[in-house]
Amino acid sequence: MRIKGKTKICVLLGYPLGHTLSPLMQNAAFSYRRLDYLYVPWEVRPENLERAVAALQVWENFRGANVTIPHKERILGLVDRLSPEAQAIGAVNCLSLREGCLFGDNTDGKGFLLSLQEEAGVEVEGKRILLFGAGGAARAVAFALAWSGARRISLVNRTREKAEVLASHLRGFAPSCHVEAHSLDGGDLPDLIRESEIVVNCTSVGLSPKDPPLFDHRFFEASSLVCDLIYNPQETRFLEAARRAGCRTIGGLGMLLHQGALSFELWTGEKAPLQTMRRALEGALGFRT
Ligand code: NAP
Repeated sequence: MRIKGKTKICVLLGYPLGHTLSPLMQNAAFSYRRLDYLYVPWEVRPENLERAVAALQVWENFRGANVTIPHKERILGLVDRLSPEAQAIGAVNCLSLREGCLFGDNTDGKGFLLSLQEEAGVEVEGKRILLFGAGGAARAVAFALAWSGARRISLVNRTREKAEVLASHLRGFAPSCHVEAHSLDGGDLPDLIRESEIVVNCTSVGLSPKDPPLFDHRFFEASSLVCDLIYNPQETRFLEAARRAGCRTIGGLGMLLHQGALSFELWTGEKAPLQTMRRALEGALGFRT
């Protein structure tokens, strides 16, 4: 890679930045498309976020950024404009420039929808969907599903109050979608799973193979499509149990890929080279293909 005076720069803004795969994926894409772009990690402590965003606005080579923990929410008030998605979700994961203004977007939910379409050929319109979790990822996915015409979304969370808050927020933004909140230890889980065409784990349970299961995996029904947002391990215990029960399954790599591809397209105006980006991710994670 040859870096020149006019090389355009994209950054990953977060703190701390440990094991991120975004630089690898984005630089592979720039290189494949022969674009004079470079993607670099930029660790910014929370107390310096305001100054960092001001610096982006005067950086002539700057073209875009991804935003990660802990800045996704606080950056909302520091950009010039927000997409409806970022506004509703209350978090920004992608910055781009539009007519010289800093534009905050959220590509996580759309990334999940694209992974459903591309990996399972599934559209969510009219579907009944069960989401485990009520954190940041669940929020992004739930809004995308509600806006895409899901008929019913059941939010199941360890802390029921958080599911209630998200449910009432969702109802305000997508009144035609029926949204319910449940606690993880309620007795209605087997019925909820049976009645859902799509089941998604949006919790962090399963990141470690030693994590105890979220619920009794014997409840899985073969008719459901089961998704896990976790991409490492490639197949979580949740997904393994679903596959053994006869369900179709999708891991979280597709969501990571598509949110990155959407960012790439916002920054460059070019179509993202999905295969190159996927290969970069799978190679780094040592996945079998
Ligand atoms: P978060 O905001 O911290 O939320 C964590 C969620 O997990 C909460 O609902 C929490 O329940 C639940 N949880 C945590 N430990 C639990 C336990 N022991 N038992 C039951 N529930 C538990 O995290 P997040 O940002 O939403 O991320 C969630 C997962 O999504 C992570 O694994 C992350 O890697 C993955 N993710 C993937 C992508 C992708 O591109 N594939 C993108 C974003 C996130 P409480 O509310 O009760 O605490």
